[in-house]
Amino acid sequence: MSSTASVLASPPEIASYAKFGRGRLADFSGDMVIYRNLEPVDKRLPGLRTAYLDMELRTEQIPRKQDPDYAKAATWFLHKIQELRRAKQPLREMIFLGDTLFNDGQAYRNIVAFSRLRGACFIGAERDEQAAAFTLDDGGVYTANRWQMLADWVTMLRQEGFALDQRTAVIIDIDKTALGAKGRNDKVIDRARLTGIFRTMDSVLGEKFDRAAFERHYNELNRARYHQFTADNQDYLAYICLVLNTNLITFDEVLEEANTNSLDNFEQFIRWVNSRMMINPALGEQLQETHEAVLSSVQNGDPTPFKRFRRQEFISTLEYMGNLEDDATVAELLAGEITITEEVYELAMWLKARDCAILCLSDKPDEASTPDRRSAGNLAPLHRAETHRVGGSIQEALERL
Ligand SMILES: [Mg+2]
Repeated sequence: MSSTASVLASPPEIASYAKFGRGRLADFSGDMVIYRNLEPVDKRLPGLRTAYLDMELRTEQIPRKQDPDYAKAATWFLHKIQELRRAKQPLREMIFLGDTLFNDGQAYRNIVAFSRLRGACFIGAERDEQAAAFTLDDGGVYTANRWQMLADWVTMLRQEGFALDQRTAVIIDIDKTALGAKGRNDKVIDRARLTGIFRTMDSVLGEKFDRAAFERHYNELNRARYHQFTADNQDYLAYICLVLNTNLITFDEVLEEANTNSLDNFEQFIRWVNSRMMINPALGEQLQETHEAVLSSVQNGDPTPFKRFRRQEFISTLEYMGNLEDDATVAELLAGEITITEEVYELAMWLKARDCAILCLSDKPDEASTPDRRSAGNLAPLHRAETHRVGGSIQEALERL
């Protein structure tokens, strides 16, 4: 298994999707769920703020998923969970399920390097137009273009001697892995986020919100060449596009500054907004309030400064979960609802039954995943929200193992 092997899967079946009723992530994870702030939902587990020194981190600054420091925190959590569940044996293996090679693949590699656990990683993205195929690299990252190939992957792990029992930690990414499978159902996750953005803009800007302009600015500034000042951060980007929509700073000015490399980072942009606000005090209370909230979060080092947008994203995400009738077709569900990826669900339930330690680890912001204390109503956190399970069953393969 040295070097990257690219292989056609055998047999190269095209997944035929079906529906499997409704479920929740909590069916396999319980409250063992950790979002971007690294403060576990299960309060028996301490979080980054109180335990960063134990995690061998120098500060309580929240690392991003692909950072080496993230692996330190993740490893610490895995051992703590093992302790908490009073497992008789220490962890020996860690398997990781995700959808992006850059974030999940790197997080996996860092965790294996730091923890020294034996590791394996599955990165899935459905590509119906291609023949079923996978690649496997030196570090144990298996990249597949069918989610159903989770069955082949886990069969391979058993053949290679992975125990997949009490000594095994299982890390499952949420967005576009357990929910809204990449290449199959992920567009609905994006739609929910956009709905959240537009609602936020409507509430801040009212009738003056120019949606067409917003989309034009967003699509341009979302590109990699602007990452120096957007930092590829969706909160920054939404805020920048909000400001451009008011013409307090114009799109042309930003392009000019970006093209002459005068705009190095987001803080510089927000200071620019601040000085423009002082000479244009009549811009409206909503905008002023939003600006001040984002500014103070940025100054506190918060990677998710646009809270108002993320709370709307949370509400619209829930509106896209379990929203269709049970008699909706598979195609309708995949197009109009954020569904649970059946292959991931079945594998996770199977691993849970074998006494593996299961953890949902996601860099989705907490504000976009859990209800705000101030919000009205009884909204379920994302991992407890019920939605349809859709995909191609791998149960038969699991039963053969
Ligand atoms: Mg993901």
